[in-house]
Amino acid sequence: MAEPMHCYRHPKRETRVSCATCGRPICTECMRQTAVGIKCPDDARLPRGARAGMMKPDQVLKTLLAGIGIAVVGIPVVSIILGLPFQLLISSAAGYGAGTLINRAGGRNGGPLAIAVSVVATVIPFLVWLVPDALAGAGSLFGALAAILAAIAAGFANRRL
Ligand SMILES: [Zn+2]
Ligand SMILES: [Zn+2]
Repeated sequence: MAEPMHCYRHPKRETRVSCATCGRPICTECMRQTAVGIKCPDDARLPRGARAGMMKPDQVLKTLLAGIGIAVVGIPVVSIILGLPFQLLISSAAGYGAGTLINRAGGRNGGPLAIAVSVVATVIPFLVWLVPDALAGAGSLFGALAAILAAIAAGFANRRL
């Protein structure tokens, strides 16, 4: 009979079970039943392909960089949009586009960070134009509404599927 193995998390416990992914021995207390067999807690926690909202550090960084890029590029774009007819419709579409770009930058994981970055990155260009106007007493309700719709659309683009 094969020599008993010892749980990698509990070196004193003998076991005959090992993780389907990494092959490390695991005791009955540590093992996790998954659709693809018994796994150690480490591998059970991170199934193949990151879960929605679970980002690797480089994806977090790309999400943040994409957000900064969108905010910077958005400033002149929003200036144009606010002067166009159908600005609410165009703002929503632009917000959705911005959210989609940020979602892709983050490896399409979506989740709270992608939503937060998308909403903030979309709203900043609007604020750049709307706040000075509002302070000068020339605030437009349409402009504020356009910003809100764009932010909602940006967040919506990152919804979990
Ligand atoms: Zn494992
Ligand atoms: Zn164990």
